[in-house]
Amino acid sequence: MTQAPFFTHDVFNQSPPFENVDLFTSDAPLVAAVAANGGGGAAGDLAEFGRHWGSAAMAERGRVANENTPKLRTFDSKGNRRDEVEFHPAYHELMAHSAHAGVHNSTWTADGKPAGGASEVIRAAKFYIAAQVETGHLCPITMTRASVAALAEQPDVLARLMPVLGTRSYDPAFEPWWTKRGMTLGMGMTEKQGGTDVRSNMTWAERDGDAYRITGHKWFMSAPMCDAFLVLAQAEEGLTCFLMPRFAPDGSVNTIHFQRLKDKLGNRSNASSEVEFHDAYAERVGDEGKGIRTIIQMVQLTRQDCAIASAGLMRSGLAHALHHARHRSVFQKHLADQPLMQAVLSDMALHVEASVALVMRLCRSFDRAPDDAQEAGYMRLLTPAIKYWVCKNAPGFLYEAMECLGGNGYVEEGILARHYRESPVNAIWEGSGNVMCLDVLRALSREADAALAVFQDLASETQGLPGATEAITSIGKALRRADGERMARLAVEKLALLAAAAALNAVSPRHAELFAATRLAGNHTGMYGAVELPSEDISGLLERALP
Ligand SMILES: Cc1cc2nc3c(=O)[nH]c(=O)nc-3n(C[C@H](O)[C@H](O)[C@H](O)COP(=O)(O)OP(=O)(O)OC[C@H]3O[C@@H](n4cnc5c(N)ncnc54)[C@H](O)[C@@H]3O)c2cc1C
Repeated sequence: MTQAPFFTHDVFNQSPPFENVDLFTSDAPLVAAVAANGGGGAAGDLAEFGRHWGSAAMAERGRVANENTPKLRTFDSKGNRRDEVEFHPAYHELMAHSAHAGVHNSTWTADGKPAGGASEVIRAAKFYIAAQVETGHLCPITMTRASVAALAEQPDVLARLMPVLGTRSYDPAFEPWWTKRGMTLGMGMTEKQGGTDVRSNMTWAERDGDAYRITGHKWFMSAPMCDAFLVLAQAEEGLTCFLMPRFAPDGSVNTIHFQRLKDKLGNRSNASSEVEFHDAYAERVGDEGKGIRTIIQMVQLTRQDCAIASAGLMRSGLAHALHHARHRSVFQKHLADQPLMQAVLSDMALHVEASVALVMRLCRSFDRAPDDAQEAGYMRLLTPAIKYWVCKNAPGFLYEAMECLGGNGYVEEGILARHYRESPVNAIWEGSGNVMCLDVLRALSREADAALAVFQDLASETQGLPGATEAITSIGKALRRADGERMARLAVEKLALLAAAAALNAVSPRHAELFAATRLAGNHTGMYGAVELPSEDISGLLERALP
């Protein structure tokens, strides 16, 4: 029996779905930031990626993968250990699409060397776009990509893995990695008693011929169906990095026993486990006692990805907010035409312009660091500062984006509630806020000459921008104080703002001027729309953000 028509069933004054959009070409600030940092030649490839990831089908995969969360299958029906995590097919499809585009390995050559050119910038654009659709699966994608930097410390191990790690296939089979078409890697550092202070790790490793046997636990180990993990454990000479595969060389399942999965605020399509190792087989990566120095190579890259993903989440928030405001009328006028909403949206657009310019500039430094000491200095000093600033901004930004959609922003059918729940994690993992600030101080004290050169560059790149000279003075003052650690957040935030103004100046000088006027000379309180921008700039920013 068909339902009788009823007048409330007509839906009007609601925005159409924001889907089937080219997430690259429709994003002029992204296109410009990629071009300014050397990736312009890949515009065609990125547009194809942007169209694919902007499709309704991909959005649906993201929704379904988060609504159907992974399940731990500890034992089979007869009581045998399984230690498998089951994911919804939508999660596997997201993994396959990312792997197919090389998001997990395209910055490396087939033998695991940096690919050079603009490979970091081009891959970052893909990561930025994919983060707008689904971030949980990006956890193993980013760890796999980053693991190569740590594995480089053990060339024989890297040489064995690269033929499988270097393919663009995703192979979810629970089989030994050397039999598979493609593989993913995770990492296990954090223990109950310490995540930041990994020196307190209690997990220990004993030599067993050329390999090791590892016993202990990890309090967080994400993406447990990875084919292998880089794990820290105490060996005779101290904390050491190891490669721990899911299967031992004889083909038996390695003794990696998952205890439970975390029940997380967000990041729900991804599984994060608590795990015990019972004499688990592992191979050493790097020298004994040099575990932190080895794994930090990987962590530097995952920190970079945290910043890219948070910038992508904010971009998605802005795009949804703007799209909605252009369709929704309140008091007979579209929201997008209401002066106060324009003030909010244009200030948000300015923030995203600066964030994307900054992360792409950072990725350029990763591209060039192997052959350019100046760029290596930029990468070292600014990775923690940029991770700090970009990731910490995301939750507040996404909250504001939700509010632009009113009540619709707050409900789970839309993507913004998911983005909002996801957004704090990038600041927490891979080095939390304070840890990033302390890392900037460490870079300043250990590599003072390189840091000074970076400051000199930033000073010349921001010359004439409002508040830039004062910002440099105030950063210096804060850092010189005897209680410098206590002032570190103030200094690092200013440093990131200065770097953002410099990066934006290379992309769009007018917007760099507005950004500097409101954030360096002005005191932006974190409330969007509480700044005065000229009318023609408001419309320019909004048009650029979304045509
Ligand atoms: C969803 C999720 C997935 C994760 N996946 C993994 C994974 O796959 N592998 C893995 O190894 N870990 C993983 N982690 C763990 C994560 O990396 C740690 O939680 C993080 O490093 C912080 O460590 P902690 O939780 O022990 O906090 P603590 O180290 O106890 O830190 C608590 C707070 O103290 C601050 N702090 C620390 N030192 C100082 C200091 N000297 N001065 C001032 N403040 C300080 C920190 O900034 C932080 O805010 C995951 C975490 C989450 C939430």
